[in-house]
Amino acid sequence: MNEFELIARYFARQPVSRPDVALGIGDDAAVLDVPAGQQLVVSTDMLVAGVHFPENTDAVSIGHKSLAVNLSDLAAMGATPAWYTLNMSLPQADPAWLEGFCKGMFGLARQHNAALVGGDTTRGPLTIGIQIMGLVPRGQALMRAGARPGDRIYVTGLLGEAALGLQVAQGRLDLPEEYRSNVLQQLHRPTPRVQIGIALRALASACIDVSDGLAADLGHILAASGAGARIHLKRLPLSPAYDAAFLQVGWGAALSGGDDYELCFTIPPDSEAAFRNASTRFGVSCCYIGDIEAETGLRIVDEQGTLYRPEQAGFDHFRAD
Ligand code: ADP
Ligand code: MG
Repeated sequence: MNEFELIARYFARQPVSRPDVALGIGDDAAVLDVPAGQQLVVSTDMLVAGVHFPENTDAVSIGHKSLAVNLSDLAAMGATPAWYTLNMSLPQADPAWLEGFCKGMFGLARQHNAALVGGDTTRGPLTIGIQIMGLVPRGQALMRAGARPGDRIYVTGLLGEAALGLQVAQGRLDLPEEYRSNVLQQLHRPTPRVQIGIALRALASACIDVSDGLAADLGHILAASGAGARIHLKRLPLSPAYDAAFLQVGWGAALSGGDDYELCFTIPPDSEAAFRNASTRFGVSCCYIGDIEAETGLRIVDEQGTLYRPEQAGFDHFRAD
């Protein structure tokens, strides 16, 4: 199978067709209609085998996760997904692998009505780069800046699950069988919080997706907003699996583990009632973990109010070892 057959067989036919794709895959570039009154929101994320997922990860999961991490960035901006492009470098054209990859990627694309409109395919070590494009009504994108003292800090879902999953996948964590599949699912098939992001547009003062660990990502909100925060260890949303792993992982997985793809956002006091009301329809719980304060810096406190110092910082590819 040559490059053109590969593109025609796996990527040119895809499940989502949108009327705003004036020209899709097959020409030198795609032509897309951006509706009047909307802004284009663009993000890209790259996944490298052995860095972003274990080498032996199944193809369906790789396809799912490649798109999920990009959708999560749109969710954090409150944008509605529309289109994406796919750059991939593959060691070989293995039909079973490509079918699995497409199943994972297109399955999630269908859920979010996102159309694949182009890409580039080369031979090389397994690397997937997706660029995603979404739409937001002019001026309504959610940003990291905007949190103010007195705003409440929330996170969706559970923290640290993917970090537990990674340790299980690497054989570094001993977890009862009943919990293993859950944390592996969170690692390999994260759920981007797209609908919640859209709902938060009118409610949140700042938002980020938790990809590098809560402490680091909340830190980005604080830096962009010129504010500080106090969060409470006992309020962090942790699963029964986490409780079972606690003696082995401590607070580290919840505070500094990567790959959660939950949203962390801040709600001003005058939006609190509307947020509570809206959140009953989110389908996932939002947990109040602390408050924005005027004093800069992140203060993590235990039940006695004593400051807790995290032992690890968030994930950083270029951190000096
Ligand atoms: P060019 O040489 O002009 O860059 P290519 O031969 O690389 O064109 O690609 C042909 C068409 O196939 C283009 O429309 C391109 O966007 C699309 N394409 C290539 N690789 C992929 C891919 N992995 N996924 C989706 N579309 C792709
Ligand atoms: Mg090309």
